[in-house]
Amino acid sequence: MNTDINAVERRQFDTLIIGAGGGGLRASLQLAEAELNVAVVSKVFPTRSHTVAAQGGMNAALANVSPDNWHWHMFDTVKGSDYLGDQDAIEYMCRAAPKAVYELEHFGVPFSRLDNGKIYQRAFGGQSQNFGGDQAARTCAAADRTGHAILHSLYQQNIRARTHFFDEYFAVDLLKDDEGHVLGALVFNIHDGKIVVIEAKTTLLATGGAGQLFKTTTNALINTGDGMGMAMRAGIPLQDMEFFQFHPTGIAGRGMLITEGARGEGGYLVNGDGERLMERYAPKAKDLASRDVVSRAIAVEVREGRGCGPNKDHVMLKLDHLGEDVIQKRLPGIRQTCITFLGIDPAEAPIPVFPTAHYTMGGIPTNRYGQVVVPVKDTPEEPVAGLYAAGECACVSVHGGNRLGGNSLLDILVFGRAAANHIIKYLKENKYHRIIDDAVIKKVVEKVNRFDRVTTGSETVAGLRNELKQVMEEHCSVFRNKEILQQGVAKVESIAARMKDVSIDDQSHTFNTARVEAFELENLMAVALATIHSANAREESRGAHSRTDFTERDDKSWMRHSLYSFENGLDYKPVRTKPMSVESFPPKPRVY
Ligand SMILES: Cc1cc2nc3c(=O)[nH]c(=O)nc-3n(C[C@H](O)[C@H](O)[C@H](O)COP(=O)(O)OP(=O)(O)OC[C@H]3O[C@@H](n4cnc5c(N)ncnc54)[C@H](O)[C@@H]3O)c2cc1C
Repeated sequence: MNTDINAVERRQFDTLIIGAGGGGLRASLQLAEAELNVAVVSKVFPTRSHTVAAQGGMNAALANVSPDNWHWHMFDTVKGSDYLGDQDAIEYMCRAAPKAVYELEHFGVPFSRLDNGKIYQRAFGGQSQNFGGDQAARTCAAADRTGHAILHSLYQQNIRARTHFFDEYFAVDLLKDDEGHVLGALVFNIHDGKIVVIEAKTTLLATGGAGQLFKTTTNALINTGDGMGMAMRAGIPLQDMEFFQFHPTGIAGRGMLITEGARGEGGYLVNGDGERLMERYAPKAKDLASRDVVSRAIAVEVREGRGCGPNKDHVMLKLDHLGEDVIQKRLPGIRQTCITFLGIDPAEAPIPVFPTAHYTMGGIPTNRYGQVVVPVKDTPEEPVAGLYAAGECACVSVHGGNRLGGNSLLDILVFGRAAANHIIKYLKENKYHRIIDDAVIKKVVEKVNRFDRVTTGSETVAGLRNELKQVMEEHCSVFRNKEILQQGVAKVESIAARMKDVSIDDQSHTFNTARVEAFELENLMAVALATIHSANAREESRGAHSRTDFTERDDKSWMRHSLYSFENGLDYKPVRTKPMSVESFPPKPRVY
């Protein structure tokens, strides 16, 4: 790899978007249609981005199946977040949701239909009518392949709008000048290792989540928290990282997701004694209680010896009573997954399930315009000039302590678009590229060398990664306590310290793949440190952060967002409890 800065290729764009999932592609489409020169960098071909895996659907109060309105959706989201979500951003998202769905329909997303021709909506967990009343059906779905349909439609629209794609390029680090302006990023072509400096007036991080932190996960191998790692290395803290969602119904021991839509269609969980277990934990909502509630219920059943199978280490999801027609029409992908990976047809037999790492609620702190914000002196947040984030890598924060199913696809589309709209305004006032000092480029180009070597180091990337994932699974899972977390902090610190001894095999033809994996591991380490330190410090139970030594939510001391950075360790900032136009929802006990 040539790291002579005079030989390095330099390209200029109005906006650089890192990430071609739903968040990145919704933003790029808005920008390209505004006639801006926009580049999208993705380490995988765009339509392989993880959004493609989203199954169950996207929430919007269309009221096609049950009475509904955006204000009820807002209430459910605030309650689901265990009152840690920022209510201005939640109001913005829920109000924007119906428009976002109709936009997708016009982009070509083939939503499933009701007999009257309207968009089909299914029930998902934590959805209610009239502020906590009867179950609502708010999730718009394209069978159980909603993300696939959305991602392909957005990609096609971007091709039409002439977005410039850098496919299979890996973004390593942000370019930032001494005045704190972000000026683009350094990327390299995974195929031949060629470095490109992409200079941009504005940069949007849309790199998705970090499910690879854990051993058992619904996330693909690409979800390594790269944007979060890049942000941390640029001095930006990560927010609310202790809140990691464990989806109740991953296939036991393997992790593949069985969508919440399966319970939305009428499926239910049974324990080893054949009981419908959720009647005990959420008498009203039962299997459609919020995800954190259902995951804890399954973990308790197994811990107390009421699990299924020879090791009593999982529970069963029953769908066979729904009939083959419903399963084939509404859940065809799930059926195929079970047949392929388990040899079980859910139309005939139940599916073994257990909570599985699924979604990164925390991330790069932003406001509702997608601007990355950091605390400066006495202010809780000031924008970082030129830098935006949207999608799962960002924390806006609409999910707070626990995300409701169907709210992430909504989040990525609404805030991808909002960030793009803000960028359009910003660029009207900031028309010219800032001059980048050679020293800024030299610094990042040299940093690329950190894995450009054959070393005799004693550690391997795969070895360290497996250890890290095992430690996170054992020390930062569904239930936590002081002893487990403190051991976790020590173990993650010690694994991170061994990163300097990692060896890369540059003799093989897979050289760049090996180097990509090393960069990804470095990002995972950063995210793991933020996660375990933030979890260790939060002495309460809220949303997905459930402590056996602090079992109650403590609004007096802990209704605040955590921020973790390399430079300052832990810090906190207030929750934005004031919505845009309606009354705030004050914290209440959260029962389903
Ligand atoms: C199995 C599964 C099912 C789900 N189902 C639903 C659902 O039904 N409803 C719902 O609301 N949510 C669902 N979710 C969550 C939702 O799908 C995700 O949160 C969302 O799609 C994330 O979109 P994104 O645009 O933020 O990132 P992604 O779609 O993950 O895209 C990230 C992009 O960043 C790029 N990238 C990352 N790092 C780099 C780098 N260093 N250099 C270059 N490019 C990089 C990747 O190549 C990719 O293009 C599901 C999640 C999973 C795992």
